[in-house]
Amino acid sequence: MSDLFDDNNEDREEQQSGQEDKDTSATTGAGKSDDSEYEDVCFICRRPESKAGRMFKLPNNICVCDDCMHKTMETVSQFDYQGMLNNPDIQKEFDEISKQNGFPNISFVNLADLRGEGGIPNKQKPKKRKEAKTPALDIRNIPAPHKIKASLDEYVVGQEHAKKVISVAVYNHYKRVATNSMDSIEIEKSNMLMIGPTGCGKTYLVKTLARLLDVPLAIADATSLTEAGYIGDDIESVVSKLLAAADNDVERAEQGIVFIDEIDKIAKKKETHSRDVSGESVQQGLLKLLEGAEVEVPVGANSKNAMVPLATVNTRNILFICGGAFPELEDIIKERLSKSASIGFGSELKDKYDKDKNILSKVAVEDIRKFGMIPEFIGRLPIIYTLEGLSKEMMVKILKEPKNAILKQYQKLLELDEVKLQFADEALEAIAEKAMERDTGARALRSIIEEFMLDIMYEIPKDDNIGIVTITREYIEGTGGPIIDIRSNLINEFSVEELK
Ligand code: ADP
Repeated sequence: MSDLFDDNNEDREEQQSGQEDKDTSATTGAGKSDDSEYEDVCFICRRPESKAGRMFKLPNNICVCDDCMHKTMETVSQFDYQGMLNNPDIQKEFDEISKQNGFPNISFVNLADLRGEGGIPNKQKPKKRKEAKTPALDIRNIPAPHKIKASLDEYVVGQEHAKKVISVAVYNHYKRVATNSMDSIEIEKSNMLMIGPTGCGKTYLVKTLARLLDVPLAIADATSLTEAGYIGDDIESVVSKLLAAADNDVERAEQGIVFIDEIDKIAKKKETHSRDVSGESVQQGLLKLLEGAEVEVPVGANSKNAMVPLATVNTRNILFICGGAFPELEDIIKERLSKSASIGFGSELKDKYDKDKNILSKVAVEDIRKFGMIPEFIGRLPIIYTLEGLSKEMMVKILKEPKNAILKQYQKLLELDEVKLQFADEALEAIAEKAMERDTGARALRSIIEEFMLDIMYEIPKDDNIGIVTITREYIEGTGGPIIDIRSNLINEFSVEELK
């Protein structure tokens, strides 16, 4: 065996100096050189880099993908060599065979052969060139808040205040990231807390923002987080998700956004006698992430174990946005307001606040603390703002106005069948009214539309003569049908017009 290695010694030494830099950068996953024209292919599973992800580069141009590397390591670690060699029968057999003609069924592979003729060429598939995607907004030339808001306006309906706050906060945040070396004045991090009823666009707002800025985004659910060691996801798994969203590029991940939804679900439990592993202690655990800490997270897996390589991610520049519906917060706000109002001369009636629809926007830090969030946690989310519940008018706008509005999507689908889809204004109102009844915000819109569009999508391709379909209020309410215009009529109409 030693011969085999001796043969390759010269070869290896020659390559070592040149390859050292490349190898270390490849194994750590950072700084992968991208200028070769071909994709690396995994030596074991034969999947190309674009499918298998990061490759470990071994000497002699052999690449092994992350999955295969882990599997191999796991198999090797589980193999009981000691037990095997301690077994006298196996050892005897082993010695005998090796004396005769080497090992049975085992042939040594000379790695050097693989490079030459007949070997498996390591680079096969031309690399798919990634389309140079230009983000609408570039964080390196941070656009002014009004520009960020204008871009958000194209997608998100209403929520003017939230869009304004988020634009300013993001602008400041990335300015802080860009001017890394603030010597005497350290700009504080602008983590945010977003409060608003379900389906009003919290997640959508963050998703849109991350897409516009072209930064990685991880969305986590606070309900699944538990203190380390308990069943559920570790708190650090949020950073792990972000790293995955950044294609394991640590530097990119460190400038990303983490959105933690349902944050109200980790409020401190009232009068609990057991250990609060998913409430207060998760808030405690999140503190260091929110503020900025170096965390070791597994690369390409969501649990730490001996076989998974770890990467260190600094969360100092990661923007954390927490969101939640905070039910019952309204009552807490009302109670506080009516208490303060009932003191002094200007005491007002409590009913006044009962009727106030925008009561949530009057939220104060003490209300959130009363709700069950610990002061240290709220302190690390300096920007607090609320989103309004959607009104009927907003629902109608959501249906038709955003760049990728649901109606536009259906219109596009039918356009492919050369059919024009129209919605009467009353029909849109009827859809919005139905959605309001369900109380799940804009999420209800899609399910309602899907229900009645099913028949349309089923029937229309049957008949080539259909030119225009108009959805009416009656059709939505189930008391009538859509108006169908036949193509021949259209042609007739056109020809009549042309004749005129
Ligand atoms: P939540 O506030 O519960 O996080 P989401 O952001 O997930 O709600 O909203 C659900 C869906 O409703 C989104 O995917 C989006 O299509 C639509 N939506 C909600 N609010 C708006 C809005 N203000 N403008 C445009 N679309 C919206």
